[in-house]
Amino acid sequence: MNVLVTGGAGYIGSHAVRRLLAGGHTVAVLDSLHRGHRAAVPDGVPLVEADLRQTDVVEKALNENKVDCVMHFAALAYVGESVGDPLTYYDNNTAGTVSLLRAMDRAKVRRLVFSSTCATYGEPASMPIVETMPQSPINPYGWSKLFVERVLIDYAAANKDFAFAALRYFNVAGSASDGSIGEDHEPETHIIPVLLNVALGKVEKVTIFGDDYDTPDGTCIRDYIHVEDLADAHAVVMEALKDGEQRFYNLGIGQGRSVKELIDAAREVTGCKIPADLGPRRAGDPPMLYANADKINNELGWSASITDIKQTIETAWRWFEANPDGYGDN
Ligand code: UDP
Repeated sequence: MNVLVTGGAGYIGSHAVRRLLAGGHTVAVLDSLHRGHRAAVPDGVPLVEADLRQTDVVEKALNENKVDCVMHFAALAYVGESVGDPLTYYDNNTAGTVSLLRAMDRAKVRRLVFSSTCATYGEPASMPIVETMPQSPINPYGWSKLFVERVLIDYAAANKDFAFAALRYFNVAGSASDGSIGEDHEPETHIIPVLLNVALGKVEKVTIFGDDYDTPDGTCIRDYIHVEDLADAHAVVMEALKDGEQRFYNLGIGQGRSVKELIDAAREVTGCKIPADLGPRRAGDPPMLYANADKINNELGWSASITDIKQTIETAWRWFEANPDGYGDN
């Protein structure tokens, strides 16, 4: 298939681009390079430098590349930032997707795989999270993505041949196993990169955001899925999607790890001390989030191949050690 990957110069999008190429698809990338990296786009893959809200430019990119399916990663994705600046999140993530859909409508592109998030569930009453649980986000980031899911449902109702999948990610981690690409965010707030930056000596210590949660060791629990597994799931879903279908899947490994478990694993993988201290809880952090990932397994036979957190951290560490300044363009 001819696939346009929005956000293909970003962390997850760039791994998806590699997976699609390996699967024999033809890929073009559309990225504003606001937070993406030109060097993350492989040689030979066309890069259209544009914002999603430039509807005409997006339409042209769809037509010129004879696109069959859009994989839509481009978005802002910091919960804390979304709380402080909600308009920017609704504008980029929600209005940006409406513009993309408008361009797809005009160019008659009838397939979309959308990056949604477990943040659309808010603080569910029980764990693990299944797709049918109520969605009630607790921050603008989660709402900006849930609104898109709604827009997609309504657009699909009015356009019977349009097919989409909304993939609700848990915590994405790790780097390409061949070391070619990895995670490079500015600012970096995610726990695994923070731990590795401490191991590299770039950050003095990690602060544990609260150890008085109602969890076995008192620290928050999350479901960490390897970025290559996540990218693989996108390709599998895209290839399965038939005219007029709507699919919603959780993408996680179905197991949770605590912050303390991550620190121990990162110390083991890196052989570094990784000093840690205890700080207050971070606003908006649910104590525990992990997926029931049975639906995609039952329907498409897909499950994560990496479930050992040390293996995930090892791939990330390989990238961080080799590229302490990331892509070097921040
Ligand atoms: N966390 C932490 N210290 C940090 C960064 C994160 O204790 O410096 C915790 C955070 O409270 C959460 C978990 O690590 O429980 C994962 O946070 P991250 O920001 O990586 O992802 P999120 O779950 O917020 O999307």
